[in-house]
Amino acid sequence: MLPLAGRFRFARSWVVVSVAVWGGKLDEKGDGVRITVIGGGVVGLSAALRLAQREHQVTVLSADPLTDTTTTVAGGLIYPRHAEPAARVALWTEASVAEFHRLAEVPDTGVRFRLGLVLRRVERPVPPWADAVGGMTRDTSVSAPYVDALRFTAPLVNTGRYVAWLDAELRRAGVHIERRTVRALSDVADDTDLVVNAAGLDAGRLAGDDTVRPARGQVVHVVDPGLTEWIVDEDDFSYVLPHGQHVVCGGTEEFGEYSLEPDPGTTKDILRRCATLLSGIEESEVLRVKVGLRPHRDEIRLDREGDVIHCYGLGGVGVTLSWGCADEVADLAGR
Ligand SMILES: Cc1cc2nc3c(=O)[nH]c(=O)nc-3n(C[C@H](O)[C@H](O)[C@H](O)COP(=O)(O)OP(=O)(O)OC[C@H]3O[C@@H](n4cnc5c(N)ncnc54)[C@H](O)[C@@H]3O)c2cc1C
Repeated sequence: MLPLAGRFRFARSWVVVSVAVWGGKLDEKGDGVRITVIGGGVVGLSAALRLAQREHQVTVLSADPLTDTTTTVAGGLIYPRHAEPAARVALWTEASVAEFHRLAEVPDTGVRFRLGLVLRRVERPVPPWADAVGGMTRDTSVSAPYVDALRFTAPLVNTGRYVAWLDAELRRAGVHIERRTVRALSDVADDTDLVVNAAGLDAGRLAGDDTVRPARGQVVHVVDPGLTEWIVDEDDFSYVLPHGQHVVCGGTEEFGEYSLEPDPGTTKDILRRCATLLSGIEESEVLRVKVGLRPHRDEIRLDREGDVIHCYGLGGVGVTLSWGCADEVADLAGR
């Protein structure tokens, strides 16, 4: 049996030969290439949709139900906080914001644009991605402990609804979605020409990269009392993100913690902190408490290694960067 990389290389050369023999039937975008995306979170699903739109034959493998990934815990604010590499993050943000503008016009996506405020306790320059969201203003008239605030309109994604929409859209595009845990990249080698490793927290293990670790996050959903704006304390990691039916109150970021059990003390602390951002929110009825493990890596990995495209380590910005990364995955696949 050929080693993994060798088998993939063979598969790709088959496509090249086929282009030559069949002329117009297969084009340079790689029509007919079988691609397996490992991961049914926002990163894998967005990449899968882009790949299907470029007429690849796409299968998504997800260890968890699509309704039960870290993605469905996310507050859904498009806000690339502390993500690296900065220059690529700014470009990915720009591409994602453009796509979310389009999706905000499509029914049932769960995507809306809302005005909001990022409060900051420490003086910092306007972030490099400011142009990507556009229309950002800086307000220095805030009171202590804050030194300034950024006000801008950002996409706010109801991730539960959004994943349901992505699922339906993928099926409409002919993508096969399967519940399956992949133990090693070589597990899928026989059935596919190209692999996209978008397995979130497990992607590092699959790639032989030990730099991916969890950044545990807990959020509390309360009844939305009719809020029109979102608000974030960038330094305290507190946020109030209204979605119409519910408000996502957050949050926490605990590196190296794997527990998915909600912690009652943390729930209380989140509501206390959110009440300092928005007085009265602590009186809204608690609907549920959710925990997710962000797949943290000091720098996001998006590259191609033989016939494996790695796209992981998106930490707290997976929704934010999803479309920019998906476009790049599709470009790498079409090479
Ligand atoms: C509390 C909280 C709030 C957040 N808020 C925001 C926010 O406001 N904005 C934002 O942009 N981001 C936010 N995030 C971050 C965001 O949720 C993540 O960046 C994003 O979910 C990462 O997506 P992913 O597809 O890489 O991983 P995941 O969503 O974790 O999906 C990983 C997928 O891979 C599958 N998988 C794993 N291992 C295997 C395997 N071996 N075989 C097969 N399948 C496998 C899983 O089953 C799953 O389908 C938040 C996260 C948390 C926890």
